[in-house]
Amino acid sequence: MFRTFCAFALAGLCLATQAADSNFPAIEFTAQEKAYIEEAKAVRMCVDPDWVPFEHINAEGKHVGIAADLVQLVAQRVGLTIELYRVKTWEESLAASKAGECQIMSFLNQTPARDQWLIFTDPIFFDPNIVVTREEHPYIGDLKGLTNETVALPRGTMVEERIRREYPNLNLILTESEQQSVALVSERKADMTIRSLIVAAYAIKKEGLFNLKIAGHVPDFTNKLRIGVVQHAPVLRDILDKGVKTLTSQEREAISNKHVSIQVQQGIDHRLVWKILAAAAVILLAIFFWVRKLHALNKELERLSITDRLTGLFNRMKLDEALASESLRAQRTGQLFSIILIDVDHFKQVNDMHGHQTGDRVLIELAQLLQANTREIDIVGRWGGEEFLVICPHTDSAGACRLAENLRQKMQTCHFTVVENKTASFGVATFRPEDQSKDIVARADTALYAAKAGGRNRVEAR
Ligand code: GH3
Ligand code: MG
Ligand code: MG
Repeated sequence: MFRTFCAFALAGLCLATQAADSNFPAIEFTAQEKAYIEEAKAVRMCVDPDWVPFEHINAEGKHVGIAADLVQLVAQRVGLTIELYRVKTWEESLAASKAGECQIMSFLNQTPARDQWLIFTDPIFFDPNIVVTREEHPYIGDLKGLTNETVALPRGTMVEERIRREYPNLNLILTESEQQSVALVSERKADMTIRSLIVAAYAIKKEGLFNLKIAGHVPDFTNKLRIGVVQHAPVLRDILDKGVKTLTSQEREAISNKHVSIQVQQGIDHRLVWKILAAAAVILLAIFFWVRKLHALNKELERLSITDRLTGLFNRMKLDEALASESLRAQRTGQLFSIILIDVDHFKQVNDMHGHQTGDRVLIELAQLLQANTREIDIVGRWGGEEFLVICPHTDSAGACRLAENLRQKMQTCHFTVVENKTASFGVATFRPEDQSKDIVARADTALYAAKAGGRNRVEAR
């Protein structure tokens, strides 16, 4: 859309051949012209009622469009009032003009046929014929350089005749209308079409044919649009001509851009908007699911980072963290906590007699036993090898010893896979206000050593 608009704006610059002076000089009228202007009540004007965006008669019966603005500007400058002669068709306007019902025709090419009853001002507007292609087509510098390309054109027009004569290298596809020609290009059934710049720019935007662009222009193929005046009023023609000469290129460009760009606003391609919204929704959904998956993966990663792979209990890292935070909490609140360090008795024998895999199996079963016989708030983890640690919040030495004794008995009576019976030794320690986390662990270690020394399968506290 942007490229189309730029092409239009650039061409708009080359439409202008008039002096680029926005402060138009005072118009000098002859005595005869002055008299005409003073006497004239209103000048009746015939128009094309259906030639958007150049001109049309709207629902309120008003003459609007590029031609309407240009003619109004000219009339205002020369001091004349315009009165619209309302019709339904262009043919009606031509007939009314020929019959002398209206003195001027707003906007038309000069042709030998029209010279029969009209005289013309200088061109009020220049509208080059341009080549419309699909977006991907390269710029066309010279139509003669093209080979094997198809051009869609309405049948029987002046453009068709000229292209057939001057560009025999192009293959013609004839259509019934300009719209049909443009549609064939858009639908990839023809490579290009040729039409008025203003109408093309307007139609591309209004019809939402955003795969099209203006790829070049046809030299010496410019519509020169003028005000036509009935032959018996040469003074009126001269007056209007003086007004036309005051128009600047900027004024012509501003007026034409106004009428094409207004339609850009109205011509929003709702299908395109829906497509963009749908694409945005798909992207947002993808992002939503991706973030959710990432969140789940992060949670899993976090879980794995604090879990012992063999037993599924907390690992040493998590136990160190929990010990540090329990110590801080106990120091701050004065709430006691205790720990139980557990070491399987003669575990080496298991590996030696039954193999490492059986040893692993025993460790897994022991982990389940510990988990099943401790409270929810207790933190149970693998300290390393065949040693385990239970952190018991809000628990004094007596409470921890009871729990340790219970675990000892459960273990003694448990039937482990293959090895049947296995015992463990337990070292209990309780937090003291001056403790760092390593101090309470050291005391539990001492207690455990004492339990081993005392014959194993025992609980000792420090
Ligand atoms: P005690 O503690 O009663 O003095 O005797 P112990 O035989 O248990 O003593 P020690 O600490 O010398 O041996 C511990 C053994 O635990 C040594 C090692 O092979 C075994 N072990 C440590 N981690 C694992 C493991 O993940 N799997 C298996 N199967 N064995 C392990
Ligand atoms: Mg050990
Ligand atoms: Mg051991």
